[in-house]
Amino acid sequence: MAAYGGYAAHRVVSTCPICGTEVREPAENIALQISPEKGEFWPDALECAGGFMGLYVASHVKETLDNAAIKYGRGFRAVLARPYLKKLQRSVPPSYFYLPAVLGAKLDFAASGYRIASTCSRCGRIRTDAASEPSKYKLIEETWNGSDIFYTDLSPVALFCSDRVLTLARENRWTNFRFVPPEQAHNYAYSGINYLAK
Ligand SMILES: [Zn+2]
Repeated sequence: MAAYGGYAAHRVVSTCPICGTEVREPAENIALQISPEKGEFWPDALECAGGFMGLYVASHVKETLDNAAIKYGRGFRAVLARPYLKKLQRSVPPSYFYLPAVLGAKLDFAASGYRIASTCSRCGRIRTDAASEPSKYKLIEETWNGSDIFYTDLSPVALFCSDRVLTLARENRWTNFRFVPPEQAHNYAYSGINYLAK
């Protein structure tokens, strides 16, 4: 199960005067839209493809992350919009949190197979050449700030996590996470680490 939209009024946190890149955050609860046909249980994690895109987790997952002192920045409350899953019309869905994560490391663009088209002189935003053929994600190790859920200067929606997060997902048997080793990042045939295997 995935969400196709996470919609809320937003506030602009910052705008780069050179390239115009805007950082936004929700100014109210996010209404999370799902396809009622797709799913048979309320998942512990959700990927959202529109509006506030990225990672959403159930509130009990956020609680466990917080108790384990996982560093991810802030969480914003999200509420599933009706219609609910067809198969679960009578059950109350969990509440979710949107975790936009934080800028936590720089990508090694060359080693990852990207050509850089431009770099903003003010905010550092990098635009890659659309003809690049990336082969993996390689971080510049010494730039990692210790965050457990983070993104890089490639894109705020390409999320990375430390293995502490994978371990918690495994121990708590959280559903619907998808973990991909950085060397498989561009292999779309790869379905993810089977973290719930016994
Ligand atoms: Zn800029």
